[in-house]
Amino acid sequence: MSVAKLKEKPHTNQSSAELHRGVKILHDPIRNKGTAFTEDEREKLKLRGLLPPRVHTMAEQELRVLGNIRAKPTDLERYLYLIALQDRNENLFYRVVMNHVEEMMPIIYTPTVGQACQEFQHIYRKPRGFYVSLHDKGNVKEILQNWPHKNARIIVVTDGERILGLGDLGADGMGIPIGKLSLYTACAGIPPTECLPIMLDVGTNNEKLLNDPLYNGIERRRARGSEYDELVDEFMQAAKEVFPGVLIQIEDFGNTNAFRLLEQYRHNTCLFDDDIQGTGAVAVAGIIASMRITGGNLADQKILFLGAGEAGIGIADVFVAALKEEGISEEDARKQCWFVDSRGLLCAGRDNIATHKEPYAHEHEYIDNLLDTVKALKPTALLGLSGQPQTFTKEVVEAMADFNERPIIFALSNPTSMAECTAEQAYTWSDGRAVFASGSPFDPVKYGDRTFVPGQGNNAYIFPGVGLGVIVSRSRTVTDEMFLRAAHSLANMVKISDLERGRVYPPLSDIRQVSAQIAADVAKMAYDNGFTDKPEPEDVLAEVQEYMYRPIYPHYV
Ligand code: NAD
Repeated sequence: MSVAKLKEKPHTNQSSAELHRGVKILHDPIRNKGTAFTEDEREKLKLRGLLPPRVHTMAEQELRVLGNIRAKPTDLERYLYLIALQDRNENLFYRVVMNHVEEMMPIIYTPTVGQACQEFQHIYRKPRGFYVSLHDKGNVKEILQNWPHKNARIIVVTDGERILGLGDLGADGMGIPIGKLSLYTACAGIPPTECLPIMLDVGTNNEKLLNDPLYNGIERRRARGSEYDELVDEFMQAAKEVFPGVLIQIEDFGNTNAFRLLEQYRHNTCLFDDDIQGTGAVAVAGIIASMRITGGNLADQKILFLGAGEAGIGIADVFVAALKEEGISEEDARKQCWFVDSRGLLCAGRDNIATHKEPYAHEHEYIDNLLDTVKALKPTALLGLSGQPQTFTKEVVEAMADFNERPIIFALSNPTSMAECTAEQAYTWSDGRAVFASGSPFDPVKYGDRTFVPGQGNNAYIFPGVGLGVIVSRSRTVTDEMFLRAAHSLANMVKISDLERGRVYPPLSDIRQVSAQIAADVAKMAYDNGFTDKPEPEDVLAEVQEYMYRPIYPHYV
């Protein structure tokens, strides 16, 4: 049959243009209500017969979803179920996540999202997010215009090189920006249509993926040097032109690129790196709150970090900023932060020190292991950001408890299996005296007649609120001071009842109020410092709360 004939022939199937309004709404995840369409709406939208006759409330739908999730045999199955729900009924998805945030966060984000990324090529079902690859070079602006929501206000972008603690997952790292933006909506109420997840596919060095015919990314090794930089730069410029004023969060880039890109773009783009700055703020908030348990002062703390990557250096930088606020010079403040990395104690004179580590390479005799470093430096706080499990050994924790009445021990590496020690080990080996927090959740621990509830130093306490504050105030920039302010806000929201149970963070179930307060404080900084042309409202917190998305169905008339 000729092409002309084909064109003339009328469609035998109903084309999407001919579908009536109701069916379109039923298949649009943003507008769909499933069995919650009212009798009236079913009549008006011609949905009678297309839905089971019983009208359910959203609360009843939530019950069904919870039943289904809890019946699934694995977390990955739960993740797939939740993503499928997000694809067909976004409001219901967010209602479930928001009402059960402690239960759902480990599924839609770490640790399950990591497993989902590792399996991404096999579990892939429906497109979500936006891909920009090396093949798009020269056309990035044009293709960004294909994104259907013109009001994108926040982009989370990764190149997939360092996904959580799992390494290079190439284009399959897309689960991370998707998951992170779901948290922006769930935790801080940034409307889903304003969130844009982006994968910058520059290739992968992961052999397993390159040899897998189902891999979704481009088949080549990672671009480096100018080939890489040109794509990143084209993307940054295009994103700002297509979505004016957009906030860009860079996420899970390899450590050298992360520090480099942050430095390169933070001064001319509204941009931050959660792995560096967000982690810095959440950990420093935990340390500030710990002072209320230990009775110490920030100025007297000596912190030893295991791991001198994005997270460790990010925390040290925010800690230094906090000490500077207290009148300590930057140089002296840095001397209160010490690092042990894969090569032992970071000290002056050691070979090949990476640029981001240089400010923390102090004069000291070289020591090749953590235990001896702990004994030599006698830190008040030990923070694990090495991705190396069980490195806070019994001897290390006992040494910390030897010279500290209340040693601060944060095992922050993710996922749970990578934690430097477990909550139980920290409490047991310190005779119940450790002030403990972790990156991934640990169950409460019974020790003697006390039950400790370990706090989770989850970045989700910080980045959604900071992002919300920047968006609401239309700030042109994201500053280090905003992260420090966020750390203070978070620490102030830890209640005495939390501290009594050993928890240095508020419960995750309070996350919406936490994010709103952080957003208000960040927005206030933007107004006060002239980072925005928008006039300051009378009540900044009310403005923030007003903006926040709530998962409520629309009414169709
Ligand atoms: P990174 O790759 O940038 O840095 C890892 C660092 O660990 C490097 O300095 C490396 O030298 C060091 N290291 C590796 N092996 C070591 C060993 N055996 N002994 C001592 N040091 C060793 O990674 P990152 O982004 O800094 O993340 C590190 C860890 O922190 C990850 O597990 C990540 O999940 C976790 N993290 C937690 C939070 C949180 O709890 N909120 C936030 C961000 C990152």
